[in-house]
Amino acid sequence: MMLPTHAVVGLALAAPLLVLAPDLSTAALTGALLGSVFPDLDLYAGHRRTLHYPVIYTALAVPAAVAAFVIASPLVVGIAAFLVGAAVHCRMDRYGGGLELRPWEGTSEKAVYDHVRGRWRRPKRWIEYDGSPGDLLLLASLGVPLLFVLEGPFRLVVVVCLAVGTIYVVLRRRLAAIAPTVFAYVPDRLARYVPERYRP
Ligand SMILES: [Zn+2]
Repeated sequence: MMLPTHAVVGLALAAPLLVLAPDLSTAALTGALLGSVFPDLDLYAGHRRTLHYPVIYTALAVPAAVAAFVIASPLVVGIAAFLVGAAVHCRMDRYGGGLELRPWEGTSEKAVYDHVRGRWRRPKRWIEYDGSPGDLLLLASLGVPLLFVLEGPFRLVVVVCLAVGTIYVVLRRRLAAIAPTVFAYVPDRLARYVPERYRP
């Protein structure tokens, strides 16, 4: 799924704390937002592998959530929310498409790398691919209600996610068509940062 969807899912996971524990909700929303975006910082260096740890984030998130429940300090809640966000991100990547330039063709069996088992997990394609109409539907169905629930900077993040996500979905196939041409002009010394699927 696309990054705006990951971000909005993270915010949606933390949103119940606005009611359940309002004084911890800012920490939870911040942590969950950062955690749900964090794995994709590996976009240009081993995407869905370098910072994607489907098993390890989950294994850390469970005790962290228990600790947050017991200790209930903003720091512990923020860390727990970060780990939950990152774990859910990696899980979502499995439910989407594979790692390839034109994921709607469905030729890649790489969804997310499992460092514990030492192999790639296969895409389930419940959401066909990142930037697909189904991806936009998921983004909108969570993002629009959040506009009424969240305030301040978090609401702004949702507005930006909805706008960027919509544009990305509209342009998704065209971007895939021009990407190899654009990346062909990248200087040799930077070429190793170009994801494999974009190399002409
Ligand atoms: Zn990802």
